[in-house]
Amino acid sequence: MAKIVVIGAGAAGLLCAAKSALKGNNVTVIEKMERPARKLMITGKGRCNVTNATFELEDLISYVPTNPRFLYSAFSNFMPYDTMSLFEELGVPLKIERGNRVFPESDKAVDIVDALVNYCKSSGAQIIRGTARAFECDGNKITSVILEDKTKIPCDKVAVCTGGKSYPLTGSTGDGYALAKSVGHTVTEIKPSLVPLVCSNHFIPKLQGLSLKNISISLLENEKEIYSDFGEMLFTHYGLSGPVILSASSHIRNMGKKQYKVIIDLKPALDAQALDKRIQRDFTELSNKDFINSLNKLLPKKLIPVIVLLSG
Ligand SMILES: Cc1cc2nc3c(=O)[nH]c(=O)nc-3n(C[C@H](O)[C@H](O)[C@H](O)COP(=O)(O)OP(=O)(O)OC[C@H]3O[C@@H](n4cnc5c(N)ncnc54)[C@H](O)[C@@H]3O)c2cc1C
Repeated sequence: MAKIVVIGAGAAGLLCAAKSALKGNNVTVIEKMERPARKLMITGKGRCNVTNATFELEDLISYVPTNPRFLYSAFSNFMPYDTMSLFEELGVPLKIERGNRVFPESDKAVDIVDALVNYCKSSGAQIIRGTARAFECDGNKITSVILEDKTKIPCDKVAVCTGGKSYPLTGSTGDGYALAKSVGHTVTEIKPSLVPLVCSNHFIPKLQGLSLKNISISLLENEKEIYSDFGEMLFTHYGLSGPVILSASSHIRNMGKKQYKVIIDLKPALDAQALDKRIQRDFTELSNKDFINSLNKLLPKKLIPVIVLLSG
C-alpha cells in the first residue's frame, strides 16, 4: 500500500484522492482552507455546470481552444458520461440544459461538493487542514510534504491539485506552480482564460449593467478576426462580461504583445442593407422627434446616448 499525499481538496484533488484510496492506497488530502472545494461552490453561478453532455471524443476536443491534444488521454480515460454516471451513483441526479450543459437537478453546487467530499471520505482518504509549502526529497524522490507550520507528512507519491490562480479567496493562489518548480518541473507562463475583459473605451462606465441578448461578437487580434460567437453579454463598469465574452477571452493568448478589439453586432439577423432600411423606416415614422428619441425602437435605452455620441 503506497502512502499518497494529495495537495488541494478542490474537484481534482477530491476525485484523485477517492480513486487512489479505492485502489487500496493510504491517502491524505491536505487543504489549506477551512472547508474543501470553495471554488466549486461558486461555479455555474452557484449551480455548478458539472460537465457537457458531449459523448464523442473528437467533438469534445474541438471545444478546447488551446492545445486540445493535451486532453486526449484524460478524456479517453474519463469521458463526460463517466462524470455523469459517477454523480448519479453518488446520489446527485443531473439534468441537461441548453448547449448540452449538465447541472445538478437541485441547481445547487453544494450538492456536488458534498458528494465529492463524501466520496473521498467513504473511499478511505482522510482530509486534513494545512498549507503545503515545500517538499523533502531523497535524490529525485519526494519523501515528505512540509506544511507551513513545519509539520512533515511522509509520502511515497504526491499529487499537486492546487488549481490555478483565479479567485484567490477560494484558496487557489497558484501555490502549485512554485511547488512543481521547486522539484524541477518546467512551468509555462500562466494566462487568464474564461475571464471578463477590461476595455479602455471612455463610454464603458455609462453602459454598466446593460445586458444584451441575441447579439454576435467578433474578436480581432491585430485587426484579424480570430473568434466569433452568438449569444448574451453584459457591460460592467470596467469592460465586458457574460457568456460570449468569457468564451472569447480564452482565445486571447498574447495580451500585452498584440492588440485586441471586440466588435459587437447588435442586429446579427440583419445585413447592412436590411439594417439601413430598418433605420430609414424608423426615421420616417419618427421624423418629428429629435435624433436621440428616434432610436428608441432600435436600441436599448442605455445605449442610445452612447451611440449618438459615437455617431458624431
Ligand atoms: C466564477 C467561476 C465559475 C466557474 N464555473 C464553472 C462551471 O460551471 N463548470 C466548470 O466545469 N468549471 C467552472 N469553473 C472552473 C472550475 O472552478 C475549475 O476548473 C475547478 O475549480 C478546478 O478544480 P481544481 O481542483 O483543479 O482546483 P481548485 O478548485 O482551485 O482547488 C484547488 C484547491 O487547492 C487548495 N490549495 C491551494 N494551494 C494549497 C496549498 N499550498 N496547500 C493546501 N491546499 C492548497 C485550494 O484551497 C483549493 O481548495 C468556474 C470557475 C470560476 C472562477
